[in-house]
Amino acid sequence: MTMPDLHPDGFARLPMLLDALARFSAPGAGVTRLVYDEHWCEAQVWVRAQARALGLQATADAAGNLYLHSESVQPGAEVVLVGSHLDTVRHGGAYDGGYGAMAGLLLAAAHAGQPGTPVVGFITCEEEQSRFDSHMMGARSMLGIVEDAELDSVRDGEGVTWRQALQAIRASGHAAAPVAGGLCAPLFTPRAQFELHIEQGPVLESAGEAIGVVAHIAGYRRLRATLTGAPRHSGTTPLAARRDALAGAAEVILAAEALARASGEPARVSCGRVIAAPGLYNVVAGRSELALEVRHDRVEQLDALEAALLDHCDTIAMRRALAFTHERVAEQAPTALSPALVRMAAALANEHGVAHRIMTSGAAHDTMEFARAGIPALMLFVPSRDGISHSPDEFTGAAQLQAGVCFASDLLTRITAGGAW
Ligand SMILES: [Zn+2]
Repeated sequence: MTMPDLHPDGFARLPMLLDALARFSAPGAGVTRLVYDEHWCEAQVWVRAQARALGLQATADAAGNLYLHSESVQPGAEVVLVGSHLDTVRHGGAYDGGYGAMAGLLLAAAHAGQPGTPVVGFITCEEEQSRFDSHMMGARSMLGIVEDAELDSVRDGEGVTWRQALQAIRASGHAAAPVAGGLCAPLFTPRAQFELHIEQGPVLESAGEAIGVVAHIAGYRRLRATLTGAPRHSGTTPLAARRDALAGAAEVILAAEALARASGEPARVSCGRVIAAPGLYNVVAGRSELALEVRHDRVEQLDALEAALLDHCDTIAMRRALAFTHERVAEQAPTALSPALVRMAAALANEHGVAHRIMTSGAAHDTMEFARAGIPALMLFVPSRDGISHSPDEFTGAAQLQAGVCFASDLLTRITAGGAW
């Protein structure tokens, strides 16, 4: 039996769909489409119309996530989910989220009626954490793991709660009614989930590779660290008598950079902010607070990086007669994606001579939540020009975008055929 060619036109309409989706944006540079805002609502209506034009139904859940499926595949069915998110950062690009979302739409349409496990496109309502002080609201609500209390505790910058925002979009038909006992229950039963995404880094482009097969998503630890010295007159206090908390912070920052460099890929150690007090020209800083972050894709390495960074902080503080304290304010565990799906993707790439690599994602994605929920999950990256993302300058060429979807389509054919993976 020969399989039908599922991408006879090479998914040629993909760049056009991405251009059209990017027009749903607040004014200003790039794309700004925050969850549940008017542009997000208009984009969701447009996606539903595109789905209908391709012969698919678009079903919204109670959080405003969309499922794009054949009429013959109804909620409750065991499916393979493919898609990404609809929201963007402020002044972001047209590709982050949009690419995987439009790819999911086209792949669901191309695979409709094919044998094996049905393919359902998904578009999560929120991933970027750009409006609400929460994370992965879309994927977590799709998975039915959002606590009811979170609907009241999560607020945007204007104090609007998640529940209030949802009530408004439900009234306009952009989300379904909540289920008894919670926000959402999973509408379909995912046998596997995968997401196409731009890399958002420079690795694939530099290496001239078409596909990144993501095997791990890095985790992080975030530390609020404080160095306390003594605020003294900057003109009259001799250098030897100073306990300069800002000079100590500078040493910590450079030690963090050196630690990351010495640890090799994919370790990251960064300081994103220093606040020095009292912050005057004529006073040696008596206190500085640093926002430190370590990232790695293995938990043992994450532990080791955090411990090494804290050792450096202790040593520097002791030598400079500063007090050092810290607290971990946030963390995310590293997540391994499905080894079987990674092997399947790598085998497909090898068979077709597709230049690829198995890699780690330094950024978090919806797929992380599916993998944590025990669903076999995979991400595929395509190159990002100059590695730029979360910027109006984000760009991936049409041929690279289409190559990613064609590869994903062939991979879906293998995944949906079932078997021993
Ligand atoms: Zn994204």
